[in-house]
Amino acid sequence: MSKRTKIGVIGGGQLAWMLGLAAKEMGLSLWVQTPAVTDPAVAVAEGVCYGAIADVATTAQLATQVDVITFENEFVDLEGLQHLEQQGVCFYPRLASLTPLLDKYQQRHFLQKLGLPVPDFAYLGDRPPAFPCVIKACRHGYDGQGTFVIPDEGAWQQFQQRWPQRPPQGFLVEAFVPYVKELAIMAARSPQGEIALYPVVETQQVDAICRRVIAPAFVDPPVSQQIEAIARQILTALEAVGVFGIECFLTASGEVLVNEIAPRVHNSGHYTMDACITSQFQQHLRAISGQPLGSPAMQVPAAVMVNLLGLAAPQVDYRAKCEALAALPRANLHWYGKCQTYAGRKLGHVTVLLPQPQAALPMIQHIEALWYGAPVAV
Ligand code: ADP
Repeated sequence: MSKRTKIGVIGGGQLAWMLGLAAKEMGLSLWVQTPAVTDPAVAVAEGVCYGAIADVATTAQLATQVDVITFENEFVDLEGLQHLEQQGVCFYPRLASLTPLLDKYQQRHFLQKLGLPVPDFAYLGDRPPAFPCVIKACRHGYDGQGTFVIPDEGAWQQFQQRWPQRPPQGFLVEAFVPYVKELAIMAARSPQGEIALYPVVETQQVDAICRRVIAPAFVDPPVSQQIEAIARQILTALEAVGVFGIECFLTASGEVLVNEIAPRVHNSGHYTMDACITSQFQQHLRAISGQPLGSPAMQVPAAVMVNLLGLAAPQVDYRAKCEALAALPRANLHWYGKCQTYAGRKLGHVTVLLPQPQAALPMIQHIEALWYGAPVAV
């Protein structure tokens, strides 16, 4: 039995929408805090508190409707929310778990203090960094927005011209990692400290936006085991409650470096909806509502997930493309119902279940040929 059956989500995008669908299946009531009536999760939420994500007064209203509040993204006003937590509002994950994570520079410090491997990093001052490097806005980055690869002096000059004034929390600068793969793991922890780990997956980014996920990743078992140990260590240290995503780089020498912790359900876990016994959305709701965690095991040998991003062409028949994808054998199409479909926007995703891992790459090429016209080389 759930102890907390009324769930509030700060955010109303596709992650909240998928949480809302899972909540319905699980007999939980879900409210969202989101600015616009056209936001995807509004269509599935039992109730909506309209307001900006960082608007604490709206969260105070949401708190009157629900038993626990959770997060769709990191763009919250943590200090403002702390007043609500002190007044007894239940946030899962707890605000203390979010505190070291919301700023990318502080997050790197947190990981370093745990003794975990991270790329060399520093706070960006006025002096030019060593090239090649990657500069990241400490706050409010997502989908590569706020991430700048700086290969040389010319790119550094351009970066400086673009940012004559730096954002309030400034920038992190770190070594460019010549990774061979990007890997991720979704991990869940209950308030009692029970942990469930999903398989390690490969994520492939194009222009710093997640484009595809291959589950499980083709990596040597020691690499997966190291990432699993990292995930356990992070979730335990944070006393996390709920599902967290952890993204890593794998180098040619087999070294694993942690890139990022997302304290929430994550794009690299969308495949779990169709390929695992318990989806990341159900798992998150189980953890925060006080139910025992479900099995994170895959129900099939392999799966691929491809993000369906908005296309640049002026007239796109998205419906025809979706029908072609949905007709693929063992495919599940998820369309977020966004009213604006601009280029690069995440509009949906498709997951295809596979009989063996070797089928992953040909299937990705097939899906991308249907959606994008041609696959982008990885
Ligand atoms: P975001 O929070 O916007 O997703 P990330 O830090 O995850 O930002 O960076 C987005 C992508 O940029 C990564 O998935 C990776 O492809 C690339 N990237 C980020 N940091 C580095 C790095 N230090 N070296 C090489 N590539 C990087």
